[in-house]
Amino acid sequence: MRADQRTSTLVCLVTALGIWLVFIGLDLSRMDGWAALAAGDLGVGLAIALRLATLAALLIPICMLAAQRLPRAYHRLSMLGLILIGATCAFIANMFKLRGLPQADIAQLVIIAAVFLPVGLTFLQSFGVALFIAVFTTGLGFAMLSEPAHLIEHGRLSVLLFFAVFVSGVGAWLRERAQRDQFLLRRLLQDHAMSDPLTGIANRRGFEENVAIALQQARRDGVPVVFAILDVDHFKRYNDYYGHQAGDEALRLIARAIAEAGRRPMDMAGRLGGEEFGLLLYDATPEKGLARLEKLVAVVEELAIEHAASPTADHVTVSLGATAFDGRETTTELYRRADAALYASKALGRNRAEFAVPDPHEAMAGSRRLAG
Ligand code: GH3
Ligand code: MG
Ligand code: MG
Repeated sequence: MRADQRTSTLVCLVTALGIWLVFIGLDLSRMDGWAALAAGDLGVGLAIALRLATLAALLIPICMLAAQRLPRAYHRLSMLGLILIGATCAFIANMFKLRGLPQADIAQLVIIAAVFLPVGLTFLQSFGVALFIAVFTTGLGFAMLSEPAHLIEHGRLSVLLFFAVFVSGVGAWLRERAQRDQFLLRRLLQDHAMSDPLTGIANRRGFEENVAIALQQARRDGVPVVFAILDVDHFKRYNDYYGHQAGDEALRLIARAIAEAGRRPMDMAGRLGGEEFGLLLYDATPEKGLARLEKLVAVVEELAIEHAASPTADHVTVSLGATAFDGRETTTELYRRADAALYASKALGRNRAEFAVPDPHEAMAGSRRLAG
C-alpha cells in the first residue's frame, strides 16, 4: 500500500516544501532575520536552524521517492519531518507572540490535519505524530508564554488542537479501512486472474508472466534454465471412459505432482490449458533438469490412476517435452522447441521425457535424447 501511495506522497511533500520555503522567506523578512542573526539573537538563530532542518527532512524523502527508492527507514523519516514541522511552527509562533509580531498559531490546526495526509504512514503512526504535536505545542506554549492574555489564548488553541487530532483521526481511520479493503480486493482479483480454478496452480497468463520474469533474471545472472511442456496421454479416452468429473480429479492430482516437482525458489508450474502443463526449472542444467523431469514422469505413473481405455498403459501417464534456455531467445522460441520435443515424446510411445537441445545453426527438425 505504501508503494501504491508514491504519487500522493510526492504531491504532499512537494506542496509542503513550497509552503515551507514561503514561510522561511516570511520569517526572514518579518523578524528582520539577517540583522537579528548578525546581532547574535539566539531565538532567531534557533528558529532558522529548525526551519532548515525541516527543509532537509522534507527534501530527503522527496529525493528517495523521485529515485524510486523506499528504504525501511522511510516512514521514520516522514514522521521525523512532520514532527519537525509541528515543533518548528509552535516555537516560531510563540517567539513572534513574545516579540509582539503578528502571528497565526492557529496554523497548528492545519499541520495536525496535514499529518493525516497519505504520505506513506499507517493510521497509528499518523495518530501518534499528531498527538505528539498537540502535546508538544501545548507544553511549549505554557513554558514560553507568561502574559495572562497569551496563556488564555494558548489554552483555547490547545483544546482545539486535541479536537483536531480526534476529528482528523476518525477521518483517517475510515479512509485507511476503505483503502485496505480496496487493496485486498485488488490482490484477490489479481490472484483470480492468474490462477487456474481447477488445479489451484498458475493459469497460462500467470505462468507466462512468471516465466518472462524468470528468463529475464536467468539472462542477467547467467543461470541455466530448463523449460518443459507436459501433456496427459490419451486423456480424451479417459474422460470418455470415466467421465469428466473423474478427469478433473486426475488433472488435480497430476497438477499437484507437477507443482511438487517445481518447488525450488524461482521454479514455476502452470496449467497451459486443457490437459497441458508447463514447468520451468530455474538454475537447472540440462542433465539435472532432465533427471528431475524423468522423475516427474515416473511420479505421475506411480499415482496409479487407473486408465482402462488407454492403448499404451494401464494407468494415466504423461508425455513431456523439455529444452534448455539458450540465454537469449524469446519465450515463443522456447515454447516452440519444447513443443517439438513433446511431439517427439508422443511419437516415441508416450510416458517419457524428450529433450530438445538448443542449436542456433540447426533448424528444429526433431529432438535428441540426452539421458535414459
Ligand atoms: P494425446 O495422448 O495425444 O495427448 O491424446 P489426448 O486424448 O490426451 O489429447 P486430445 O487433445 O485429443 O484430448 C484432450 C482432452 O482433454 C480433451 C478433453 O476432453 C480433455 N480436457 C481438456 N480440459 C479438460 C478439463 O478441464 N477437464 C477434463 N476432465 N478434461 C479436460
Ligand atoms: Mg493436449
Ligand atoms: Mg493429451
